[in-house]
Amino acid sequence: MRAIEADIFVSGGGIAGLVAAVGLADAGFSVILADPAPPPATAKGDDLRSTAFLEPSRLQLDAIGIWSALCDAATPLEALCVANCRGDPPRIEAERSFRAEDLEVPALGWNLPNALTRRRLADLAEANARIDLKFGVGFSSLLARQGEAIVGLTDGTRLRARLAIAADGNASPLREAAGIDVETTRYGQKALAFAVSHPLPHMATSTELYLSGGAFVLVPLPDQNGVPTSAVVWMHDGPEVLRLANLDDAALGEAATQRSCSVLGPLSPVSGRQVWPVITQRAHRYTAQRVAVIAEAAHVLPPIGAQGLNVSLADIWCLLELARDAPGELGTSRQLATFARLRQLDVLARTSMIDLYNRICRDGSPAGQLLRSAGLRLAGDWAPLRSAVMRAGLVS
Ligand SMILES: Cc1cc2nc3c(=O)[nH]c(=O)nc-3n(C[C@H](O)[C@H](O)[C@H](O)COP(=O)(O)OP(=O)(O)OC[C@H]3O[C@@H](n4cnc5c(N)ncnc54)[C@H](O)[C@@H]3O)c2cc1C
Repeated sequence: MRAIEADIFVSGGGIAGLVAAVGLADAGFSVILADPAPPPATAKGDDLRSTAFLEPSRLQLDAIGIWSALCDAATPLEALCVANCRGDPPRIEAERSFRAEDLEVPALGWNLPNALTRRRLADLAEANARIDLKFGVGFSSLLARQGEAIVGLTDGTRLRARLAIAADGNASPLREAAGIDVETTRYGQKALAFAVSHPLPHMATSTELYLSGGAFVLVPLPDQNGVPTSAVVWMHDGPEVLRLANLDDAALGEAATQRSCSVLGPLSPVSGRQVWPVITQRAHRYTAQRVAVIAEAAHVLPPIGAQGLNVSLADIWCLLELARDAPGELGTSRQLATFARLRQLDVLARTSMIDLYNRICRDGSPAGQLLRSAGLRLAGDWAPLRSAVMRAGLVS
């Protein structure tokens, strides 16, 4: 059988893989994307998470024509309220707010349900003549040569591409086939994701409440039937998260209301629930011959500070810029070495920062409590640190 040819093969049709495909096709490259999952609208157990796209990500999505397909469903995050809590039941001990206007931007971020984002990205990709979208078919083998990657798919198809991109999640089969190992840190924590309605308006403010065990985060969603609604990410020790996930709606609502210190009034679950592992993971290398590793295939972060997908998008902008600047060099060792050099430091800095932040934020010892409250007051009240923290992307 003759192999199909394309400039780029993308393994993985999650949000990162789809953005990469649309962006690279927009730059004039032909792309084949494969994902063994069914197309998003019919995917069982659709992702219940939402993602806060930070302002730099939104600007980039706009530049490649994606934002206009998403913006009507996005909820702007005009402020972030961070609180340190103590006690059982918890009460707020220290609290600071960070506002978009401090950075002179319209919003700190824009929140979108993952399932909707993925569906709309798949529609964009499907309508693009340069993209061959193959849902229901996975990557299965890699033969990398100096001038091309020969990729085998699970339906027996063979294809040749100048560049193969691993965007196939934290257990990335393409990364593994390229012989790249990972380093994983486990915290014994999990994250429970679900949506709640509440009587008090969220005022376009995202709220992060810290307590030993981990963060409890409320992120604004559009009102449902006129009732204010937010996405919840509740991090805690694994067994406790599994216990919470199995409560009935009334009991989960009561527990969530107590954990949220009632900042939005009584919370009522209005969605299913999903449990996610909390890990930090870094690939040892971001490239191999004719292969670039991006997004969760390259790095996984705990879900605090809205960093995960935003760091993934930065991988994509970097790859896109290099490919646009020198299209003839696509997938060469020189271009991939530049990609690795540019991304490795940023990813190392952000994964280290979020790892430390998570350790401090979940610490239940008196010293940890003190450090958290003092750190929050310092970051909120000392202008140079406040600005540095916001610009570093912890809260913007
Ligand atoms: C609770 C929670 C909340 C979060 N909130 C935020 C937030 O507010 N902001 C933020 O920036 N980030 C956030 N994140 C992180 C963000 O959700 C993830 O980084 C992002 O969804 C991962 O996208 P991805 O495309 O890299 O991977 P995935 O979504 O895992 O996609 C990988 C794809 O690869 C496919 N695949 C698997 N095997 C193969 C194969 N053999 N061949 C081809 N394809 C294959 C899979 O089917 C899947 O579709 C959060 C994470 C969690 C857990």
